[in-house]
Amino acid sequence: NDFQDKVAIVTGAGSGIGAAIARELGRTGAEVVVSDLEEDSSQAVAEDIRSAGGKAQVCTADVADAQAVEALVNFALRECGGLHLAVNNAGIGGPSEKTGDYPLDGWRKVIDINLNGVFYGLRYQIPAMMQSGGGAIVNMASILGSVGFAKAPAYVAAKHALVGLTKTAAMEYATEGVRINAVGPAFIDTPLLSKNLDADTLGQLAGLHPVQRLGTADEVSALTCFLLSERASFITGSYHLVDGGYTAQ
Ligand code: NAD
Repeated sequence: NDFQDKVAIVTGAGSGIGAAIARELGRTGAEVVVSDLEEDSSQAVAEDIRSAGGKAQVCTADVADAQAVEALVNFALRECGGLHLAVNNAGIGGPSEKTGDYPLDGWRKVIDINLNGVFYGLRYQIPAMMQSGGGAIVNMASILGSVGFAKAPAYVAAKHALVGLTKTAAMEYATEGVRINAVGPAFIDTPLLSKNLDADTLGQLAGLHPVQRLGTADEVSALTCFLLSERASFITGSYHLVDGGYTAQ
């Protein structure tokens, strides 16, 4: 992929999948705006990109805050001179409870970050891309954008919803030079899992995939960067799995 002269925003880029995508975009020529809630981890990822010879800047933002997301897009326009690529990746797992016991504040938090955060991204990224001559966006869904998972009702609802949002926005801008797709990873070996689950549970999760292992952040980044690239010029409004066969069963 050649992202020379392209400016990219990646949210949730301080860790896991977002960090892998930010690094790959940086390696392949993009100027990357590394954005996360966590300033320190974002700085570390930006430093990695720069020490590998790439271009990166940090702009901290909470994706659940529409004004912060608008400020992030304005940062890219002002500091980097445009916006061509965006990955709305920031997300959390949320509480693990059945629907009948699900904490109301946990529901709101998951919807605010995993769904509203993606809408705020699109809301400000799309006009900025049109003003920059066009671009491409990937929204990070999950296999749980197409199948259910017990004790994760908020996460599953948010990921299903963002797939519909992706399709609708893609239709609206299909003739205006902005492509929008969603990616659906199965269980990926990142801090989102390893911080919250013990080794036994991780092993059980690995066994749910026909390939009998978890995915890697780099495997998700490869698909995401392909969808952002010109090689994917006829691909818009669709949801692409990277799931080791999970949803084939
Ligand atoms: P991670 O926890 O390693 O990284 C997520 C990053 O998002 C963190 O750096 C965190 O600080 C940041 N973040 C959290 N809330 C934020 C907010 N309000 N504003 C800005 N940044 C915020 O997680 P990951 O596994 O890399 O997940 C990234 C995305 O991939 C998420 O949307 C997740 O739902 C999705 N996903 C993950 C898996 C998996 O198994 N790991 C599977 C499918 C989809």
